[in-house]
Amino acid sequence: MSEILDAVRAGASGETLASTPLPETTRAALVLRAEQSMFEGMATKDKDPRRSIHVADVDLPELAPDEVFIAVMASSINFNTVWTSIFEPLSTFGFLDRLAKESYWGRRHALDYHVIGSDAAGVIVRAGSAVRNWQVGDEVTVHCNYVDDQDPSSHDDSMLSSSQRIWGFETNFGGLADICVAKANQLMPKPTHLTWEEAAVNALCNSTSYRMLVSHNGAPVTQGDKVLIWGASGGIGSFAVQHVLNSGGTPIGVVSNENKVATLRELGCEFVIDRREKDYRFWKDQYTQDESEWRRFGKDIRALVGEDPDIVFEHPGRFTMGASVFVAKRGGTIVTCAATSGYMIEYDNRHLWMKLKTIKGSHFSNYREAWAANQTLIDGKVVPPLSAVFPLEQTGEAAHQLHENRHEGKIAVLCVANSEGLGVSDPELRARVGEERLTIFRRHDRE
Ligand code: NAP
Repeated sequence: MSEILDAVRAGASGETLASTPLPETTRAALVLRAEQSMFEGMATKDKDPRRSIHVADVDLPELAPDEVFIAVMASSINFNTVWTSIFEPLSTFGFLDRLAKESYWGRRHALDYHVIGSDAAGVIVRAGSAVRNWQVGDEVTVHCNYVDDQDPSSHDDSMLSSSQRIWGFETNFGGLADICVAKANQLMPKPTHLTWEEAAVNALCNSTSYRMLVSHNGAPVTQGDKVLIWGASGGIGSFAVQHVLNSGGTPIGVVSNENKVATLRELGCEFVIDRREKDYRFWKDQYTQDESEWRRFGKDIRALVGEDPDIVFEHPGRFTMGASVFVAKRGGTIVTCAATSGYMIEYDNRHLWMKLKTIKGSHFSNYREAWAANQTLIDGKVVPPLSAVFPLEQTGEAAHQLHENRHEGKIAVLCVANSEGLGVSDPELRARVGEERLTIFRRHDRE
């Protein structure tokens, strides 16, 4: 066991942590370059993250001046954990090799293993010489927008930067480890009323949904807007529902079973469609869509809220995009950040141009948006949709559950924290936000 990780667990001061030696290695969840072809020829659904994600000790890299080492109390599983582990649509080793060509510090990332994970909540244990706003001992969460601040294109909306990457997906040394490496400009204060595992599941998905539905860079919701949300009890969907409610809009959540319907109702989403029960068949076969099914879906939405959605929160992609473009209101916006069911998209363009609709692409968030999204958690206006917790050794199993769509909300992974429920430093705020509200997804997942 590492002396410094024991000190972190014991709540040691920053001064003590700074004088406690760092280990040379860390335990980490990773995929291997040698295995990047292991699933070739298999159907996506059969590619099993339990076979490709390993937990092993790896060397800690040299720390760049603008970086910190963080003792990761907890991390989370994101869909990009699944993409990395099944080597789809590309092996992430290509990203690491490209980063290696950029600089001395970039070279550290091209290794024969990729330490994954794009979320983390933990304690800073070392800070590089150029880190100004954070100190050893600070409790932080980490957002995954990884940009070079010496690149001029990073200085308007950093998501438009030509050097923009997603940490732990397009970079090495991600959050699913006992010690991770992050840039100082990825750090945000940990919400004091949350446990480590609750704090670890938000930054990636909350910031993504915030940009899509609150920021002027997305399709910002205004009072009275009706917003259709696919996968509304999933990772980004459960944050989308909360942002729509907070903005005075009306979410219409789409999910695929009764338990998820109940979760959404408890979250405050009055209008929910169970897509399995309705059995929508948007595709007659793999080449042909069925407009009468889009129409049936549109009628179901109108029956619930009396009008077509102003905004559609889109991410399933190929399976739903035709329907999403069809049901959006005249002049409405389809805001999309993903294509889980396939990225070669088809929709009927007549419904887009004749009704003056807009398709808006969105990807994660810049630091300002991530910070604002984190503030919604700090203020207790948004709650973490934590449904399950796994130990680091079972990262593969946790990713498998996400791949199989067996989960609700978010799955956390405990790294340095050796049990759940730790990390709350403001119990009064926790009581004000409410234990019931903070555990909605946890309770529904157990039922
Ligand atoms: P998630 O937790 O698995 O939630 C996705 C939800 O989508 C599922 O719970 C499922 O809900 C629904 N869904 C899946 N396949 C569907 C289909 N064929 N038709 C209709 N609904 C379907 O995943 P997530 O974390 O929310 O991420 C969703 C997608 O966004 C992923 O592809 C991820 O990579 C991407 N993403 C992109 C960014 C970005 O910055 N660009 C950020 C975060 C996530 P039901 O079964 O209940 O309907």
